[in-house]
Amino acid sequence: MYGNLYIVATPIGNLDDITLRAIKTLQEADIIAAEDTRHTLKLLNHLQISKPLISYYKQTEKIKTDILIEKLKEGKNIALVSDAGTPIISDPGEEVVKVAIQNDIKVIPIPGPCALITALISSGMNAKEFSFIGFLPVNKKEKEEKLEEVSGETRTLIFYEAPHKLISTLTEMKNILGDRKICLARELTKIHEEFLIDTISNLLEKTQEPKGEYVIVVEGSSLSKKEKETNKLNEMSIEQHYKYYEKLGYDKKEIIKKIAKDRNVSKNEIYKLFV
Ligand code: SAM
Repeated sequence: MYGNLYIVATPIGNLDDITLRAIKTLQEADIIAAEDTRHTLKLLNHLQISKPLISYYKQTEKIKTDILIEKLKEGKNIALVSDAGTPIISDPGEEVVKVAIQNDIKVIPIPGPCALITALISSGMNAKEFSFIGFLPVNKKEKEEKLEEVSGETRTLIFYEAPHKLISTLTEMKNILGDRKICLARELTKIHEEFLIDTISNLLEKTQEPKGEYVIVVEGSSLSKKEKETNKLNEMSIEQHYKYYEKLGYDKKEIIKKIAKDRNVSKNEIYKLFV
């Protein structure tokens, strides 16, 4: 019989946040697959658990997946953990879960701490609907493109960011998303936990040398993507507006109808300009 693959969430700071089920799973697993074995060893020592460890990190994900699947097929129960929080969320693990499912191996989640949820529930932002972006791309152009892509999102946005990139990311957010309300959730569940809630520009003024771990929760756009696009079109001259739709392949009649709708004027008014 195949073993089970347990996806075990671990604390994001406060070790007391480990769940009873996580402890039991780690105690009973045959093998623990860890992102950084030295890091996980500290947690296991704290819990007085001694188990064989296999390292499983982003760069070795494909090769290590094959090894773990082989062990699972031999009947070994494996607990997968990351350095902190919920594995797979901006952490390795997706590959082994995918291949386990393909091989009819049971995947059992052991839920627990996760920085994005911990930040969101303390931010006061709309938590009914949200969009988790995680880390933005390192490449400046790709990073800006990603921010452009989500700028019209009306749901709350959640980002992870490293402290040394926080200032530049907030500056880019201010330029692309606008000076919105955000929550900087810092050092969650740790001694220096804090929530700074204000506009991006005010927080940029207050934050000189960011230290520790951060989640950035951003209020969703008050304008939908469509409204933003319409505003952009209305800033154009009427000729540019016409050319824009012409390039998209619309005929004259359709273009006039569309411009009139965008600008909230009668079709006749636009028609007169183009005859
Ligand atoms: N898998 C983790 C989870 O469940 O949240 C996330 C891992 S990701 C590699 C690490 C990032 O998560 C950090 O750079 C930071 O943005 C965020 N993070 C993790 N722990 C945090 C904490 N205690 N306080 C604030 N942010 C944290």
